[in-house]
Amino acid sequence: MSEANDCIFCKIIKGEIPCAKVYEDDDVLAFLDLGQVTKGHTLVIPKNHKKDIFELDAETAAKLYKRVPMIASALKKTFHPVGLNVLNNNGEPAGQSVLHYHIHLIPRYGSEDTFH
Ligand code: 5GP
Ligand code: ZN
Repeated sequence: MSEANDCIFCKIIKGEIPCAKVYEDDDVLAFLDLGQVTKGHTLVIPKNHKKDIFELDAETAAKLYKRVPMIASALKKTFHPVGLNVLNNNGEPAGQSVLHYHIHLIPRYGSEDTFH
């Protein structure tokens, strides 16, 4: 079985696993993280399966990151955070648990949300 066939996020892209969709186009999908570090915690992924930053090609990265400000603004409008983290983990020692490249958008609400 190829890496992509065995990948949770590829299954979400194909609709085989449900998700709470935030944004979708031909190249990019954004959906709420199951874990919700804070309210509105969102993952932004390329539809093209790439394991990590070391596999990500410039074209896929450009299509992906081009959408991030718009998705962050949509989260701001919906959830009214006072800040937002843009994070990406690469490799298990760096905290990556799903081996399909993804960007975490974590809205921050100030004193009531513990930074971690
Ligand atoms: P990582 O630790 O690799 O940077 O982040 C992976 C994230 O994927 C985790 O925050 C985890 O909660 C999320 N996650 C894992 N499986 C699923 C799933 O099936 N659906 C959704 N929506 N999020 C998932
Ligand atoms: Zn994948």
